[in-house]
Amino acid sequence: MAFVLNIKDLPEDVSRQEFAASPDEFSLDYEGIEVTDDAHAYGDITKSNDQVIFRGEFSAPVRTLCSRCAEQFERDLESELVFVLSMVPEQEYEQLEDEQSEDFHFIPGGTLEFDFSGLIRDQIILALEMKPLCHEECKGICPDCGKNLNYEECTCKDEKVDERWLPLKDLLDRS
Ligand SMILES: [Zn+2]
Ligand SMILES: [Zn+2]
Repeated sequence: MAFVLNIKDLPEDVSRQEFAASPDEFSLDYEGIEVTDDAHAYGDITKSNDQVIFRGEFSAPVRTLCSRCAEQFERDLESELVFVLSMVPEQEYEQLEDEQSEDFHFIPGGTLEFDFSGLIRDQIILALEMKPLCHEECKGICPDCGKNLNYEECTCKDEKVDERWLPLKDLLDRS
């Protein structure tokens, strides 16, 4: 079924719908972010006149690289999913197309279905492109010896001069 909303058969009412998409139907190719298994979405869909409102959530199992230790990790990403579709006459649609936003879309009247995979993709990327972490307390990689500090300790830090004194040390070295 993938993430396609059937607009043609929507009742003029609120209806609850569930969607599922296999990795074949819903994939992601962005900076090492991968969808590993079926993704799901569900929502309350309200249709009235020329407007369709989707209020719900999605979840997707994703795999990416930790920004601190560079190890792969997997996570079930869950997030709210809300969007509004506003049906407009075909002639007006072309002018309005540029005015739509992430959660507010114009669609030409008579549109049969709306594929919202792109909206979910955008949200996944948004959630993961900013410094994803394998876990909150990831210790990262030692910049000196390159060891993954989640698995082993190193003594580099102890040998280093306290960073607060570095400017002073610079001065002394120069004089
Ligand atoms: Zn990590
Ligand atoms: Zn080290």
